[in-house]
Amino acid sequence: MAASDWASKDFYKTLGVSKDASQADIKKAYRKLARDNHPDSNPGNKAAEDRFKEVSEAYAVLSSPDKRKEYDQQRTLFGQFKGGFQGPPGYGQPGPGGVDFDLGDLLGGIFGGGRGRSRRQPQGRRGDDLETEASITFQQAVEGATLPLRMTSEEACPTCHGTGAKPGTVPKVCPKCQGSGMQTGTAGGVFAMTEPCDHCRGRGMVVEDPCGTCHGSGRAPSSRTLQVRVPAGVKDGQRIRLKGKGGKGDGAPDGDLYLVVHVAQHPLFGRKGDHLTITVPVAFDEAALGATITVPTLDGPPVSIRIPAGTPSGRTFRARGKGAATKAGGRGDLLVTIDVQVPAELDDESRAAVEALRTARGDQDPRASISTEAVS
Ligand SMILES: [Zn+2]
Ligand SMILES: [Zn+2]
Repeated sequence: MAASDWASKDFYKTLGVSKDASQADIKKAYRKLARDNHPDSNPGNKAAEDRFKEVSEAYAVLSSPDKRKEYDQQRTLFGQFKGGFQGPPGYGQPGPGGVDFDLGDLLGGIFGGGRGRSRRQPQGRRGDDLETEASITFQQAVEGATLPLRMTSEEACPTCHGTGAKPGTVPKVCPKCQGSGMQTGTAGGVFAMTEPCDHCRGRGMVVEDPCGTCHGSGRAPSSRTLQVRVPAGVKDGQRIRLKGKGGKGDGAPDGDLYLVVHVAQHPLFGRKGDHLTITVPVAFDEAALGATITVPTLDGPPVSIRIPAGTPSGRTFRARGKGAATKAGGRGDLLVTIDVQVPAELDDESRAAVEALRTARGDQDPRASISTEAVS
């Protein structure tokens, strides 16, 4: 198309956007209109095809900031000379910013196919990144788990492929706004205001025979269940990225899905890397005399641990290979920390025994190491 045609066409109106619309808005309006009027979805519909071409032409200019600027300037110029105006010098010849295109070009551009020549517009919108949460048990976090994750989203209606029209029919260009999606408002006072067409709600197209599945909206809630593998060793609050499992891309890659994992606390066990931890109560006499104690494991039979005589509270013992599975296929250890208990109450027999112990201790001062005499 030559630049000479530019000034006589209102590309903004064609796309149903305002003069100061952002590039994103222009793109959005275009995508919608191009999809609705695409010849593939409207076989044999001449009106839709013409509309498709108009929309494509408008977009080819407005999508390029340079061409848009030039177009705006020409429109301004045209406005000044309106009435008997034949055109400024050079007008009527293809301008330096003139746009030549054919349908193949545009199809190639819109659908990312190889049909177009080199002038394809950068197209497509990457799918949204989504975030969701899942709660897992402590054991699942240790071992890894596969979680079914139900995702709901809106996608093009599968019955009408997003047109909103009953299969076999096509949306019609809106008779009220002729497809622009805009109308001149009635409440504007002195200035005529444009507002979205109330007949087609700004879409530019009307569906006379709505699709039974989506009732004309062209959208359908879609739910899918993903099987998500949570790796062994996942930590509470960790974000797992699932590449390409987010929102559907539009001629561009799908977005990613981020799964935030909440790991429930275990009443007995804690984690320290690949190792599991547990605190085990031990009676004073066991710690003093030595004992073999039985300690539970997370996912196997209990283990026996030999506590030597004179074990202090807080000492940690290691049960090798009884911890969490490691990525390498091995297992971490179970770290068993001793907590020497002091009885809250003593029966007569125990009291007598403890008193005997005190007598046996004699004058030995348990705090000798911190006495001021010792450190001075
Ligand atoms: Zn309308
Ligand atoms: Zn539908």
